[in-house]
Amino acid sequence: MGSGLIRALVDTGALRSNLAVVRRLAPRSHVMAVVKANAYGHGLVPTALALVDADSFAVARLEEGIALRHAGVRAPIVLLEGVFSPEQLDEAARQDFEIVVHAAEQITLFNAWGGSHRFTIWIKVDTGMNRLGFRPEEFSGALAVLAGHRHVGTLRVLTHLANADGQGDPATGQQLQLFERLTGGLGLERSIANSAGIVAWPDSHVEWVRPGLMLFGVSPIAGRTAIDYRLKPAMTLLSTVIAVKPVLPGERVGYGGRWTARRATTIAIAAVGYGDGYPRHIANGTPVLIEGARATVAGRVSMDMIAIDVTDLPPVRIGAEVLLWGKGLPVEEVAPYADTISYELLCGVSQRVALELR
Ligand SMILES: *Cc1c(COP(=O)(O)O)cnc(C)c1O
Repeated sequence: MGSGLIRALVDTGALRSNLAVVRRLAPRSHVMAVVKANAYGHGLVPTALALVDADSFAVARLEEGIALRHAGVRAPIVLLEGVFSPEQLDEAARQDFEIVVHAAEQITLFNAWGGSHRFTIWIKVDTGMNRLGFRPEEFSGALAVLAGHRHVGTLRVLTHLANADGQGDPATGQQLQLFERLTGGLGLERSIANSAGIVAWPDSHVEWVRPGLMLFGVSPIAGRTAIDYRLKPAMTLLSTVIAVKPVLPGERVGYGGRWTARRATTIAIAAVGYGDGYPRHIANGTPVLIEGARATVAGRVSMDMIAIDVTDLPPVRIGAEVLLWGKGLPVEEVAPYADTISYELLCGVSQRVALELR
């Protein structure tokens, strides 16, 4: 174990409660819990074990799915990017993974495959994001090849929304309409919604929803926080004060002297830095909580440390707890100070940070 100076508490009860929120919002849909990128930094296996009630799990890459199987997860597992070689197809068959097919090359691979497994295949159609998926005009061709294919057991269809987090964005309505036109009469199970679709676009729920971010207790909609949706933050990132010192008016703090004391200041140094995933470029004035009281980051983040202006707080001692985000300070409030979104902060938490499940 590490020194205990920094840890990420993961509240498994919050994960389960957030899954229940998904079920309430999309009561007629199956839930495919998206746990890619180490479950958005929360720990792939422990998160999946906490979310046993999900109907299936989705990961981006083969290795992530294998890790789940090795941990004893028997639920369906969907490979969102599909497979890219015969060896990967062999492995996907051995592990009984469901696979997304989004490109003609993957159909070619499938046609040439010598195995005997019949897969559950998700055909991905690109309805406007222009990332993965068959273009609308290619979709019926792909469908015709895969329907009744010797390696296909069950066929399903999915698409992904590009603008679901912008409430009322007309692009989402257009994507939904196009998807309905292409797939409405097929009698196949379908999936459209990520977290933003689940909370903001009920028409996108269909047979399967694919929540990621909201399972971790974070609002998928800009300008809203978890509380608005009764979500509970699952991760609380905690560090520790390792030094406290006075700084005189006019003196500067940290690399490049990006922060200047305007008054007689007390600075606390906390053991968290960009080596832990706390962004180097986060702004002066970013909020943190020290023993529950709000204070602000002063100067540039170092690899292992940050400086915090604690002048207005009751005296801070070495060993005090510093909360970077989580319970009491939503990650969605911190992310803009780093010019980013909650997703990137969560999945950027580095291996050096001990995950502690509660
Ligand atoms: C990551 C991902 C999701 C989950 O998205 P959230 O915004 O985190 O809910 C759903 N579907 C696909 C295809 C994804 O890649």
